Amino acid sequence: MFLEGTILLGSEFNPIEGSVIINQGLISKIEEHSTNSTDIILPTFVNSHTHIGDSIAKDAGYGMSLDQLVAPPLGLKHQLLDQSTPESLIFNMAKSINFMEANGISAFADFREGGVNGVKMLQESNMDSSIQAIIFGRETTDVLKISDGFGASGHRDADFSHERKTTKQENKLFGIHAGERDNKDIDGALDLEPDFIVHMVHATPEHLNHIKKEDIPIVVCPRSNLVTGVGLPPIKDLLNHTTVALGTDNVMLNSPSIFREMEFISKLFDIEPSAILRMATSSGADIFNLNSGVIEIGKEAKLIVLNGESNNLYGSHDIVSSIVRRASMSDIKETYF
Ligand SMILES: [Zn+2]
Repeated sequence: MFLEGTILLGSEFNPIEGSVIINQGLISKIEEHSTNSTDIILPTFVNSHTHIGDSIAKDAGYGMSLDQLVAPPLGLKHQLLDQSTPESLIFNMAKSINFMEANGISAFADFREGGVNGVKMLQESNMDSSIQAIIFGRETTDVLKISDGFGASGHRDADFSHERKTTKQENKLFGIHAGERDNKDIDGALDLEPDFIVHMVHATPEHLNHIKKEDIPIVVCPRSNLVTGVGLPPIKDLLNHTTVALGTDNVMLNSPSIFREMEFISKLFDIEPSAILRMATSSGADIFNLNSGVIEIGKEAKLIVLNGESNNLYGSHDIVSSIVRRASMSDIKETYF
């Protein structure tokens, strides 16, 4: 099969007119030619950090502090999780997964609470979708038997060296939150040599040099940081030092839409639209070892087709900028996962 239109080619997203030819799920050929199609073809998004377990608590706790909202065990999120039945949790998580799928997200990396059972519930909620759930369990290293890795809450909660070691032995990924409310838990997290760190709002120049030297990727969640009032991550500095990907964090705080995350970043920071689109696509694919996130021969054909004639996108002078700054789910014509 083939898709025809304006193709955002390679990691620079250079728009060319032509066709993407797909063979057995892979991009087998890219042909440049003129076309009457007004479709825009781009790679699917990777949502590199979510907690979809709290889909049962959307917009609860307006105005509460970060600790009041999400700190275990008494934060509002955990109270609401405790009060929910497994059926309700699974149903609500499936709703968020459907929403992400409709938003062009082909993979999401979730930090799942609830140990082995929590991981199983997320797997069950994802049974009917074609989106890839990359699941990071916690609470016990037994999760590693069925998860993609271990997602540590943060170094201030525990040492996590046993979990780190076991994750490495199992050849899985280890991620950890750090530098969200202050910089006190960053050194401890860096000492664990994680595969990636989430947040890094309060990274110092020393931390930036460390992550550059050790090549540790960072996942930033600026909308979440705005809601919890902890500040904003130094995204430009982070981009100058390492791979930076985008996550939407807790569903209770924000919709898991990468379109919205990109728009916020583009309007809050002085960062090239193409760099923001890379954070939303290939950077996450790199962190989680996915063969997607960029339109190149040999990559998996995980693609979004946007309607270039939609009321929202019609007349754009810079399509990459328009995707980052104004596109939304309603502009999606088709997705191929
Ligand atoms: Zn998180």
